[in-house]
Amino acid sequence: MVTRERIPSLIRDGLFLSSGVFTLIVVMQPGASEREITAVCDRLRALGFQTHLSTGVEHTIIGAIGDRSNLAGVNLETYPGVEKLVPIMKPFKLASREYHPDNTVIDVAGVQVGGERVVVIAGPCAVESRKQLLTAARGVRAAGADLLRAGAFKPRTSPYSFQGLEEEGLEILLAARAETGLPIVTEVMDQRGVEMVAECADMVQVGARNMQNFNLLRDLGQLDKPVLLKRGPSATVEEWLMAAEYILSSGNSRVVLCERGIRTFETGTRNTLDVSAVPAVKLQSHLPVLVDPSHGTGRWRMVAPMALAAIAAGADGVMVEVHPCPEEALSDGAQSLHLERFAGFLAELRPVAEAVGRRM
Ligand code: PEP
Ligand code: MN
Repeated sequence: MVTRERIPSLIRDGLFLSSGVFTLIVVMQPGASEREITAVCDRLRALGFQTHLSTGVEHTIIGAIGDRSNLAGVNLETYPGVEKLVPIMKPFKLASREYHPDNTVIDVAGVQVGGERVVVIAGPCAVESRKQLLTAARGVRAAGADLLRAGAFKPRTSPYSFQGLEEEGLEILLAARAETGLPIVTEVMDQRGVEMVAECADMVQVGARNMQNFNLLRDLGQLDKPVLLKRGPSATVEEWLMAAEYILSSGNSRVVLCERGIRTFETGTRNTLDVSAVPAVKLQSHLPVLVDPSHGTGRWRMVAPMALAAIAAGADGVMVEVHPCPEEALSDGAQSLHLERFAGFLAELRPVAEAVGRRM
């Protein structure tokens, strides 16, 4: 298991060789002599690279990690015994663990995301009415949620489906925060909405369908608000980290990632929740990562088991949809936990969080 304590030692042990900001693989010719191999290693170390030797049946391979600019004007390929050079350039930098070896902890209106405590974001898919949202907010607050979620702008597959209450929805969210004190997470759908949503939200959510809306990401990079970046339904982990890099490189260092399931051939669930993305991100990046088992499965009965799996895998928290009356929800009722079940759900998570050295 990749625990938070183990990550620095994994870096020390060189397991990050292939995920460095710049990694160079030097393939030596079959039969290259000891002396030739040593000469290449010595030169690389003199250039500030760490080297790792791998001796195979035919080839010896030298892995080197360091600063690319130190290689300017150095013709390693001309050294005796060198067959070829294979540069490996990880495209993300600010999001990488090499750039920032410790886990980043992000403050969301006083709630620390990415620290020892596992955080819980809960609330309905959409703001439907004042009564619905305030009932949900009071309920999740009483049960122990850390942040309130609900969309005022909803990205719907069909233009005929409920699209959200928009500005009125944001006002209702503000009323819920004023009453319960819960910080708000809500989605921004396009560049036009950034200012309005950021004024209300304590954390601005980028929906899965917008993960590669690069102009939107750049605009969010200018904000002084944390961003919750959901993984695109067909995005690789690397593409997801590149999307985070857009926000980081535009000046906003407060990015929280959220795995919400990817598109596969499986039809029994709405999406396939990729729990393996949690350690995959943790190995490569310092950013906090949450899991959304509601959109990840589409079925409320699967939400608790997958939330447990997420926490066991090292997630920094979960985001779950909770509705006072899921049967009547205007969106995502089938995957929403009934408000009355929410306290029981949290009670199930606690022992697993403690088992992996976290608190709730
Ligand atoms: C949501 O959180 O309500 C939502 C629309 O999620 P996603 O973008 O992951 O589909
Ligand atoms: Mn939803």
